Amino acid sequence: MAGGWTRDGAVQEQIDASVEDAISRARRALPEGAGLNHCEDCDEPIPQARRRAIPGVRLCVGCQSRRESGDSGPALFNRRGSKDSQLR
Ligand SMILES: [Zn+2]
Repeated sequence: MAGGWTRDGAVQEQIDASVEDAISRARRALPEGAGLNHCEDCDEPIPQARRRAIPGVRLCVGCQSRRESGDSGPALFNRRGSKDSQLR
């Protein structure tokens, strides 16, 4: 019983670590408060006008509206988790 639990926990830890690593690497690559040149989800270029209008913008118009409307876009980490917490 302890063995199975340990193995599951280790895998989850690895997943968490790589997600956090990717996020922190992406954050470190940016000047503070700056948005992304390319959409975080679909990698489309974000127009400079949009980046100026929305400081720290990370999504293109399409992905932003998809997220706001709650439709499923490209896979997001912990999307189910955050949806659950919004419902509660
Ligand atoms: Zn996008």
